[in-house]
Amino acid sequence: MYLKSMTLRGFKSFASATTLEFEPGITCVVGPNGSGKSNVVDALAWVMGQQAAKSLRGGKMEDVIFAGTSGRAALGRAEVSLTIDNSDGALPIEYTEVTITRTMFRGGGSEYRINGDSARLLDVQELLSDSGIGREMHVIVQQGQLDAILQATPEERRGFIEEAAGVLKHRKRKERALRKLESTEGNLNRLTDLVAEIR
Ligand code: ATP
Repeated sequence: MYLKSMTLRGFKSFASATTLEFEPGITCVVGPNGSGKSNVVDALAWVMGQQAAKSLRGGKMEDVIFAGTSGRAALGRAEVSLTIDNSDGALPIEYTEVTITRTMFRGGGSEYRINGDSARLLDVQELLSDSGIGREMHVIVQQGQLDAILQATPEERRGFIEEAAGVLKHRKRKERALRKLESTEGNLNRLTDLVAEIR
């Protein structure tokens, strides 16, 4: 599995559609200060479901939409598509190529698509988590993050390892199932009370 290409439209400084093609192995992005290198990494985190605007170096999520320059008006939407080569079947989906797309409208929420089909954030997170790309995005190491990992508590460090091993997905599923069980138990109790009243 490797990242094949990414297309940015209206994302941060990438007003026009821009496609970056990646080859297996190491890719380096070079350019002058402020030319948009970090915006490429932000786009990668964003399309994979990053929810925290701060992690994308913005104040609010809308800041990812091209805000305009002196020569070009602001845009109303940002869209990033990421194509992953899945010929080794690392992602649990029956396609050798997977394209994840995230679109955001100014003033509106986000939409996700997996190979063109509408999807939920949870679907994107679950699809990626088997490959070790969890919702905490530890696969993207930002400036200063190494220090944070070195200074983490043993519990926090276990969280990093669990995410990389794909265990976190099952822990989250268990938490969701327990919450559902709790609300079902509440409903059952109310029902039992009602039946007792009717009798
Ligand atoms: P450095 O080498 O200094 O870290 P960089 O190449 O990583 O720089 P980025 O931080 O990726 O640069 O890009 C910063 C540029 O992106 C700035 O010029 C900023 O104005 C522009 N930018 C960020 N968000 C938006 C937006 N929503 N609309 C338009 N331009 C934006």
